[in-house]
Amino acid sequence: MILTNARILTFDDAHRVIDSGSVEVRADGSIGSVRSGRARGADTVDAGGRLLMPALINCHSHLYSTLARGITLPGAAPADFPAILKKLWWRLDRALNEDDVYYSALIGLIDAAKNGVGTVIDHHSSPNACAGSLDAIERAYRKVGLRGATCYETSDRDGKAAAAAAIAENVRFLDRRRRDDTVGAAFGLHAAFTLSDRTLRACVEANQPLAGAFHIHLSEDRCDRGAVSRLSRLGILNERTLAAHAIHVTAAERKVLARSGVNVVHNPQSNCNNAVGTAALLELFCDGVTVGLGSDGYSPRLWEEFKTALHLQKVRARDPRVGYAEAYAAAFRNNRAIVRKIWGVEVGRIAPGAKADLALYDYFPPTPMDPGNLFGHLLFGISNAPVDSLMVNGRWVLREKQCVNLDERRVADKASRRARALWERF
Ligand SMILES: [Zn+2]
Repeated sequence: MILTNARILTFDDAHRVIDSGSVEVRADGSIGSVRSGRARGADTVDAGGRLLMPALINCHSHLYSTLARGITLPGAAPADFPAILKKLWWRLDRALNEDDVYYSALIGLIDAAKNGVGTVIDHHSSPNACAGSLDAIERAYRKVGLRGATCYETSDRDGKAAAAAAIAENVRFLDRRRRDDTVGAAFGLHAAFTLSDRTLRACVEANQPLAGAFHIHLSEDRCDRGAVSRLSRLGILNERTLAAHAIHVTAAERKVLARSGVNVVHNPQSNCNNAVGTAALLELFCDGVTVGLGSDGYSPRLWEEFKTALHLQKVRARDPRVGYAEAYAAAFRNNRAIVRKIWGVEVGRIAPGAKADLALYDYFPPTPMDPGNLFGHLLFGISNAPVDSLMVNGRWVLREKQCVNLDERRVADKASRRARALWERF
């Protein structure tokens, strides 16, 4: 197939803007040639002059959180982060059954697709439906047609048996999925403050033959301060580790993260929502830490995370000049580098050999656009434009704003019925 008559943002090393170009999509789901000019023939798809760019990547999300939308918490509103976990998330995850896990993931992935996200890195928890839960999530990825990876959140908060079951679920899924480049696996850990040394050692040992990447929350709140040295000592931090947040870290800890090659994932809107503070993005970049961007399940719109990442650094520094390079690098350079480093998959650029994960936007620039002013168009234009179509691995996921592989309304109806029952158990 050749996509033609598109304005192409390549996000390759040259950051090209091709005003009217064509992209060849090979049968194996990769990109062939990328060239300027219109193509003709039976196998061409006319993009109608829309803007074509790589599908976005969300490096940290929780698909299991989707059915909490609109839930009422009993009693007084939680006043800090540990209370939010206890009153909302740890109650919700215990109430989930396998069907809830599947529908929650379906809704989260549909929302992601409709917002131009092609890859979602998920972190899952459902302690009363643990065994096989990652398979249910994998089925949801395949149903919607998105790319990503998932893992199970190991924690001591529900007791020894639950921690052992979590380790077993990670091992089982990693063993089955480690060579898959559409739905991959990682080894999930909650956070240092709910994991004993003993359990962390058991995770390292269980993961050894599988060489999975650890995916963990790191110093999201003050309650998890000092985690870096402990996790480092126990062998959790390395160049394939995904560490979400890294807000309450010291300058010395940032140096350890840089030295270990840890991939930090910044989740700015979730951090605002939980009032836990915000990561020192400028300092993390300055110290050489790789920082990507995620949503933490807060929003399927990675564009809003990109904007919030920028705005928060300006507010932190009280300087309107800062944050541009960091927000751009996190969203468009580091996210793709992280996916390549951990799962060996080339996404996030339109170049021969990369995966054909592509999004078409209804964006017809009303001002001149070139590689030199791309940021302004991303921030003020493309980020607000409707996503018309999304392709993952060379296959359409979204066409004319509708999911092609499922009936969205039917899925929403079923999910709503499941959510009602879930909220009664909550
Ligand atoms: Zn998270």
